[in-house]
Order: sequence, then C-alpha cells, then structure tokens
Amino acid sequence: MSDSDTEQAAHDVAHMRRAICAAREATRAGDMPFGAVLARGDTELFVARNEQHTGADCTAHAEVVLIRRAAAALGATALIGTTVYASGEPCAMCAGAMFWAGIARIVFAATTDDIERALGGSRLPIRCAAVLATARPSVLVEGPLLHEEGVAALVLPEG
Ligand code: ZN
Repeated sequence: MSDSDTEQAAHDVAHMRRAICAAREATRAGDMPFGAVLARGDTELFVARNEQHTGADCTAHAEVVLIRRAAAALGATALIGTTVYASGEPCAMCAGAMFWAGIARIVFAATTDDIERALGGSRLPIRCAAVLATARPSVLVEGPLLHEEGVAALVLPEG
C-alpha cells in the first residue's frame, strides 16, 4: 500500500469506530443499534444514530438521519463526494438516500446477514452493493470493516 492508502485505512478505522460508538448510544437510548458517520478524508463532518423508536419514525435509520441533519447544517452540496461509514450494512432505503445525496463511498461493519441473525424482525435482505450496482454516478461500497466490533454492537434495546 502507498502512504496515502495507509493513511486512508487509518481514517477508515477511526470513522468506523465512531459509527459503532453511535450504534451503542442508539441502543442505550432505546433505538435500534445503528450509527453512521459522514466524512471527507480524515475530517468527520457529522455523526448520527438510529432514532426510529424515540422519533416514532420508521425512516429514521442512522444513514437517513445523518443525511438530513448534515444537509440542513452544512448545505446539500457539502455531502457530494463524501464517504459514509455505517455500523450496519445500509438497507435499500438508506442506500437510495445516500445515492441521491451524492455520497461517493459507503463503508459498513456488520453485514445484512449479521443484522438478520442478531436482530431478526422484518427483512429486506438485498445487499447494499446490489441496490447501487447500476447507479450512475457509481457509488463505491466496501465492507465489512471492523466486522467483529460491528457485530458486537448489534444488541436490541431493552423494553
Ligand atoms: Zn436503512
């Protein structure tokens, strides 16, 4: 790997750790265990977590919350070409939302299979890369990164 690749890999790990941390915060708050980070290079632009229970909003997945809040705070164009780090592989809704936001790269920790195994419930088991396979402009989808830490955070909220 070149020096810049090595630096990017270190940024990737740091951003993903923060996304997984946000997933744990979501569980503690009573929401589903997912977090997401928006970043450009080593710069963290925004962090969000799932809010679907506390927000009484079935679309308040971490990635959707992230995009809405980041666009409101930074302006929609600030999202173009950025990377989203998701503690769990994004669902079809979130993959589409990130595409429309102009996200260039998506990195996830736990996979769709991991999420199903750990949490059960409703299933929409299409892989993120499959949703975005024919997207133009294309979106790079990578993962799992920090797989074990991502899986360990898949804990249902109590109550
Ligand atoms: Zn989703």
